[in-house]
Amino acid sequence: MGPLGFGIYIHIPYCLQKCLYCDFVTIDLQRRSSTPPPDEYVSCLLTELDLRAEDIRSALSSELPLTSIYFGGGTPSLLAAKDILAVLNKIATLGFSRAPNCEITIEINPGTIDAEKLDLYLASGVNRFSVGAQTFRDDFLRACGREHTSQMTRETLRLLSGRNLNFSFDLLFGLPHQNLNDLSDDLSELIAFSPPHVSLYNLTVPQNHPMNRGRATDEVQSQMFEVIETELQAVGLRRYEISNFSKTGFESRHNCLYWQGLPYWGVGIAAHSFLPEVGPFGSRFSNPSSTKVWMNQISGASLLQDESPLRFWENLPKAQVERLFLHEALTDFFHTHLRQTRGFSWQEFRTTLQSFQVENTYIQKIICLAQTRADELKRTKLIVANDGRIRLTPTGYVLANAVFLKFTFLPDELRF
Ligand code: SF4
Repeated sequence: MGPLGFGIYIHIPYCLQKCLYCDFVTIDLQRRSSTPPPDEYVSCLLTELDLRAEDIRSALSSELPLTSIYFGGGTPSLLAAKDILAVLNKIATLGFSRAPNCEITIEINPGTIDAEKLDLYLASGVNRFSVGAQTFRDDFLRACGREHTSQMTRETLRLLSGRNLNFSFDLLFGLPHQNLNDLSDDLSELIAFSPPHVSLYNLTVPQNHPMNRGRATDEVQSQMFEVIETELQAVGLRRYEISNFSKTGFESRHNCLYWQGLPYWGVGIAAHSFLPEVGPFGSRFSNPSSTKVWMNQISGASLLQDESPLRFWENLPKAQVERLFLHEALTDFFHTHLRQTRGFSWQEFRTTLQSFQVENTYIQKIICLAQTRADELKRTKLIVANDGRIRLTPTGYVLANAVFLKFTFLPDELRF
């Protein structure tokens, strides 16, 4: 999984279309009217990086290296390679110590990259590509509202696998009118490209959404999940998180930061950050999802630079900052650890509580409470303890929400 570290997430909101099921904060490039062109957006990203880097550095444990930079979106591969390079060059000047094998990922959509652009990305230091392929069926792609075709996906995957590059394949399933055979066809084709990493997305849309019509039953969708797991494990793609599979050593270092409670800094509209060392139990903060509000916030801060003794999150509107309470930090611990196949040990839980500087007698009471809940989940066979670690069972993966609900703590429950 790689050493302890921290990561920077850069949000690039532009897309060629607005897919029918998408609830990310994006800008449809073809319908863009009042939103800024990419050049202006990138220039604001560079300002944000400059303005806030020192505060971020001050909130990190010393010597914590930068282990991941992630360009997500949106469709970051719509940006010219020079823009990606400008962001990476800026980050290089900010004084973070970069781990030698820092993972630099860019999300790309088929049809938005060719050999020349790929060369430029590689030359700028990008070393991992996350491909928004979804499915090889053109009719399903159209039903999702996607612009790309399966032929474009094949070309992109040929380009990446032909050069033996590190890439991930996004597989979307549970689509309207998709059956188990359709899914098997997708799996056979994706496996032929030998991706080092696969991320699964079970289509999630509101109850009354048009894409909810004609979908397989919940039972068949659970079977789809099982088929995917079996087929991927058979070719050495091991599950390491509920929805993520990889060859050994190719786990997403960036996503592992999220699941291991490590710090990350989100830059750009709607980007989220987590700083475990800010406040007694860590803090989260976010940027506005409106480009205009975000740009005003950054340019306002730019004018006030050096005048405020406060760190930037102390100047943000309350709605953008969340200082965690103990019950939220505990809930996060269980939810993030149980997502991963490595699970957790009670010793890790104790160490986390000790890092919060909670009294020993109180720690013991919290552990007893959590163990009582774990015992109930063991009885219903949703989790299992072996090798000193607690993990989800195969049924637990399917019913993970029930496990997470049980491991959600309320403030009153911690008043002993
Ligand atoms: S390409 Fe991805 S981010 Fe963009 S609209 Fe479609 S699903 Fe959303």
